[in-house]
Parts: sequence; structure tokens; C-alpha cells
Amino acid sequence: MFELLVRLNPKSAPMMRMDGVSELTSADIAAACAGANKFGVDIILAKIAGKSTKDLDARLYDMVVDLIAKEKWKMRGKSKRIEALLDLIIAEHINETRCASCHGTKFILAKQCTECNATGYIRFNDSLRAQLLGVDKSTFCKVWKERYFRILEVLSANEYDSYYHIRRLLK
Ligand SMILES: [Zn+2]
Repeated sequence: MFELLVRLNPKSAPMMRMDGVSELTSADIAAACAGANKFGVDIILAKIAGKSTKDLDARLYDMVVDLIAKEKWKMRGKSKRIEALLDLIIAEHINETRCASCHGTKFILAKQCTECNATGYIRFNDSLRAQLLGVDKSTFCKVWKERYFRILEVLSANEYDSYYHIRRLLK
């Protein structure tokens, strides 16, 4: 857990005293995480791990269903659409998605990979998002883009809520 938090943000790494003893104990960290919004903590941990979990997938699904009801979005073939939206959100924001061209190495035959701008990760844009959702780009921009970012907003709000809660308690 400690390693995970350090990777999360170098600034959250505890100050080391001259004798090399860490000022933060694992109990401090456990307590900080225990008091935080569980959904947000699960999102943060899944991001660090580079992989969502079944529990988190289920929680995200519920979150989207709630949002659809709250915002009164009209949807045909609702459950399939929700799954496609979730797959996209998880692929873009939680899972580590390596570039298919360079397989995450950033290079192809010693040249920088242009497909991912030599980042090693898939570059998401509206064309790819539309493709993954199974709609054309103009439909994506007209109908889905706003919804997509609204879902992302709720996800990020939960994530940051937990993140700042943990940071505050670890300072
Ligand atoms: Zn690449």
C-alpha cells in the first residue's frame, strides 16, 4: 500500500529523517485510506495497478445507471450502450492501454512511434471513441461526447475526493 501511494504522487512520499526512518507508518496510511470514499480509493488503486476489477466495474456501472436516470438521457439499447461507454471509460482512464503499433516500446525499428507520439500508450480522440462506441464520429460529437465527459466528471470527482482526503491526512 505504501509503495502504491508513493507511486501515486512523489509528493505524498514521507519525508525521510537523517537516520532513514520514515515518519509515516503503514498504520497512518491505512487509517487515511480507511476514512476515504471507498469508490474513489478503488479508482485510484485500479489506476495504479493499470487494471480495473470486477467490483469496480460493477460500481462504475451503477454510477452510470444513476447518472442516466438523473440526467434523463434517452437511450436505445440501453444496457449495451452502458457497457460500451464503460468499456471506453475504463480503457481510456483506468486500464493501462499500450499502443498496438509499438506495443508500448515507443519505437518502431529504432524510429519514434508516430501512432502514439512515442508515449507507448494508445492516443484516444473522438474518432477512436466513436469507433469503440460503435457510432459514427458526428453522432458521437452530437450525442455522446457530452455524456461521456459528464460520466468522466463524476468519476473524477470521486477520485479527487479520496485523493485529497488521503493527502490531507498524510501531511
Ligand atoms: Zn506506439
